[in-house]
Amino acid sequence: MKCVICKNESTIVFKHVPALVCSNCGEKYVEDDVAKDVLKSTQEIFL
Ligand SMILES: [Zn+2]
Repeated sequence: MKCVICKNESTIVFKHVPALVCSNCGEKYVEDDVAKDVLKSTQEIFL
């Protein structure tokens, strides 16, 4: 995956949160599907 911040072909890794983090600059990326799951989980908690 190419990082849009540092323009490097970086290793984007999953941290303990459902996000991808650039190993070079630390930019976080949240995949759409993951974001939806998180949102769904959040709504389930509050409902
Ligand atoms: Zn980067």
